[in-house]
Amino acid sequence: MKAYFADEQRRHDPKSFLSSGAPKPNPEVPERIERLLAGATAAGCTIERPKSFGLGPIAAIHTPEYIEFLQRIYERWQRIDGASAEVIPNIHPIARGGSRPDSAVGQAGYHMADTSCPISAETYDSSCWSAWTAVGAAEAVEAGASSAYALCRPPGHHAFADVAGGFCFFNNSAIAAQRLRQYADRVAILDVDLHHGNGTQGVFYRRADVLTVSLHADPVRFYPFFWGYADERGEGAGLGYNLNLPLARKSGDEVFLEALAAAIRRIDAFSPDALVVALGLDAFAGDPFGGLSVTTSGFARIGETIARLGVPTVIVQEGGYLCDALSGNLTAFLTGFAARHKTSP
Ligand code: ZN
Repeated sequence: MKAYFADEQRRHDPKSFLSSGAPKPNPEVPERIERLLAGATAAGCTIERPKSFGLGPIAAIHTPEYIEFLQRIYERWQRIDGASAEVIPNIHPIARGGSRPDSAVGQAGYHMADTSCPISAETYDSSCWSAWTAVGAAEAVEAGASSAYALCRPPGHHAFADVAGGFCFFNNSAIAAQRLRQYADRVAILDVDLHHGNGTQGVFYRRADVLTVSLHADPVRFYPFFWGYADERGEGAGLGYNLNLPLARKSGDEVFLEALAAAIRRIDAFSPDALVVALGLDAFAGDPFGGLSVTTSGFARIGETIARLGVPTVIVQEGGYLCDALSGNLTAFLTGFAARHKTSP
């Protein structure tokens, strides 16, 4: 399988992170890339650099005022006396229907959902390359590859059309899905990350052409708290085109695979022309977030199960944090997937 990655994705190196209000080192570190590259290579992937696709595929998902915010906010932030080194919001609108303020502090609160997505001088560039990595993989599938892996970092699935959050700036999975829509009438996104794909759900919530399905730790006591419940089913034309499968904390392989079977049935009934897998590896039992208890062999079974859909597939990296098995979990998923994946010509 071809894999895509660009060196510029290493430059974003966030420092700050608040966990239950306490300052901690940010876990979305560049070292993740080395582990994931090793995992993809061990699964037989050849790594290619994507080309720059310009802002077009990003602007197909994200609003112009949000893109401009990400381009300029770091430089603007430096002009504030006594401001933090990284851009971090400290005030948010309680309802987003109000005015968008002109000030840097006001716009940080408007465009950033939480404190876990600090913006440095390198963030915008790294995020563009992460998005182009997803587009490169989507383009390979459009050109006839049965599958491709996008080593996206920073990740994307918590980013809405105009809001960053949870380590995410541009929604790489949504950008890949929208790119696939150029040739595919119906695209499904299956999110197996530990956390609910709230940004992806938000982007496609009123659309029937992109089905969004997410398996994740129950948000009742877990990030992203405000989204990810089973009664969120889409709105308007999109009603019935969003499926959330929240799982009890610490659930293991059997519970995960049972929910995955329900997800696969829904995707099968939608009959997509292409699939995006938002592949988080943080559902692993040994991941620092500790939300679910999937094993390394469980990831191989998850890959095999998804492969049986037989749909051209773009695999987009989402979460999965430093632990001994991070490389091995990616290898297990990709190997399991590749062993069973066949698409009809
Ligand atoms: Zn996650």
